[in-house]
Amino acid sequence: MGLRDGVRARNESAWLLPNDGTRTNHRLRRDMRRFADEDEIDLVIVGCGAGGSVLLQRLARSGWKVAALDAGPFWDPDTDWVSDEAGSHRLYWTDPRVIAGADPVPMGSNNSGRGVGGSMVHYAGYTPRFHPSDFMTRTLDGVGADWPVGYRELRPYYEQIEQELPVAGERWPWGDPHGYPYRPHPVGGNGEVFLRGAAKLGITAKVGPVAIANGRFGNRPHCIYRGFCLQGCKVNAKASPLITHVPDALAHGAEVRADAMVTGIAVDERTGRATGLHYVSGGRERFQRAAMVAVAGYSIETPRLLLNSASRRFPDGLCNDFDQVGRYLMVQGAPQTAGRFDAEIRMYKAPPPEVSTEEFYETDPGQDYKRGFSVQTVSPLPITWAEHVAAQGHWGTALREYMSDYVHWSCLGALCEFLPLPENRVTLADEKDSYGLRVARFSYSQCDNDRALARAAQSVMEDILHAAGADEVITIQRYAHLVGGARMARDERHGVVDENCRSFAVPNLYLTDGSVLPTQGSANPALTIMAVAARTADHLIAGGIT
Ligand SMILES: Cc1cc2nc3c(=O)[nH]c(=O)nc-3n(C[C@H](O)[C@H](O)[C@H](O)COP(=O)(O)OP(=O)(O)OC[C@H]3O[C@@H](n4cnc5c(N)ncnc54)[C@H](O)[C@@H]3O)c2cc1C
Ligand code: SF4
Repeated sequence: MGLRDGVRARNESAWLLPNDGTRTNHRLRRDMRRFADEDEIDLVIVGCGAGGSVLLQRLARSGWKVAALDAGPFWDPDTDWVSDEAGSHRLYWTDPRVIAGADPVPMGSNNSGRGVGGSMVHYAGYTPRFHPSDFMTRTLDGVGADWPVGYRELRPYYEQIEQELPVAGERWPWGDPHGYPYRPHPVGGNGEVFLRGAAKLGITAKVGPVAIANGRFGNRPHCIYRGFCLQGCKVNAKASPLITHVPDALAHGAEVRADAMVTGIAVDERTGRATGLHYVSGGRERFQRAAMVAVAGYSIETPRLLLNSASRRFPDGLCNDFDQVGRYLMVQGAPQTAGRFDAEIRMYKAPPPEVSTEEFYETDPGQDYKRGFSVQTVSPLPITWAEHVAAQGHWGTALREYMSDYVHWSCLGALCEFLPLPENRVTLADEKDSYGLRVARFSYSQCDNDRALARAAQSVMEDILHAAGADEVITIQRYAHLVGGARMARDERHGVVDENCRSFAVPNLYLTDGSVLPTQGSANPALTIMAVAARTADHLIAGGIT
């Protein structure tokens, strides 16, 4: 069986999309199975993003009665998405949150999504694997944590998901060296700058890995290099669960219930087992019964939902007997460096994810910090470019001059492995949202190792751009990618779920999103989140409905 046939036999999503120039299989959505609230379905999932959708699709294929409830809409790329930065605001989770700590993390477009497909609808599209070392940083480097599961156990799931998205890129020499199912994309001006500067410094940089079809895949067309990946790919070339896992789930009897905000997880006090979800839909409070529950609401909303699901049995929040819920929330340090060139770069004329290096990923014994960073092309569109320039303090005439010079700039971003710290956490604020639920308070402070990493990454990016011929470089400090907050561990004193993502406290409750990650590496997290969810699905299928 060829590669495509093998993928199709496992996940037919790309072939279930229309082949007539439109982007959505309306029949599949219209004829979707719909469960009644009072049906006790096998599993109900909170959130239909990276982690939730993979679980949904795998279990539906195995004949489970399964539904995913998502607070946001069921997007139709043809009618809902626009090729316009400002007009894409609806894609983000913009409900109120309180931020605190010495280095608070701004929330919004850069770190959350809302709606079927989750944050991957408007993620950039980079899909690197974690390195084997990421699973044992405590043993190797004396920082972070060891996972209760290793790279080797996750590798088959990385391979499956890379084929299903599918991923394009050069052979990857770092971590566990591996190839990709699709050849690398051609690069635009920004990628050429990166490759040129890195080559002059002797730094290996590679094209990819991106979850963007290079050539036709099923009924998905190939990329047209229009650069709107972070606004939702209207073309359907960039992978997101909306097109990579949801169609197959629907075709196998799953329900996706959009515009359904989950407000609480119910647990029977006598049996200690989850019984279903309280949610609000169409202004009505409802309750979906289920034999098992999975939560995949992303790193802020998952711990918030657990904390908001307090009861007599769990007075400090569900699964929070050992004060682990919300802790070890991580965000990658993401300094961004732009360089000006006399030649036109036109960084918007390609997907932002093009070229990256993981040369600096591992701990370097010659440095005074542990762990490392990666560097990638980022290619901001004009509004994000204005934010970069304004963050440097340029306003008025100076800002206008930088803006009219946009086509001459190239832009790189780093992902620094900021360490998991127990005091970086989500708790509940006193403020309430429109559902009457207490909002999340996210407190975040950097440690010395984090700051040293960000300085080192900035200096490497500035060197690369200078080596490529930039006559001016400007760097801003930012954050990217949230993970953690309900991590997996060997026991309940150190985490919330076990190696199969099953909560220690409630035997039929699973968490299958980015919140379970104990460390974050300097890789973008979506592929790992999907691989972990696929592994959990296999565990559930093997164990049956319990
Ligand atoms: C701008 C941007 C760029 C990114 N770029 C990359 C990249 O290049 N590569 C990469 O690997 N990662 C990237 N990411 C990160 C990646 O998208 C996330 O790590 C990943 O999607 C998280 O998966 P998840 O399953 O934890 O949550 P999500 O995919 O965010 O899914 C969570 C879902 O749960 C729903 N939800 C939450 N709470 C509730 C509730 N109470 N009731 C009902 N529904 C609820 C939300 O609506 C959402 O749809 C990017 C993210 C952003 C925002
Ligand atoms: S550059 Fe390619 S992947 Fe990105 S939005 Fe455009 S068509 Fe989609």
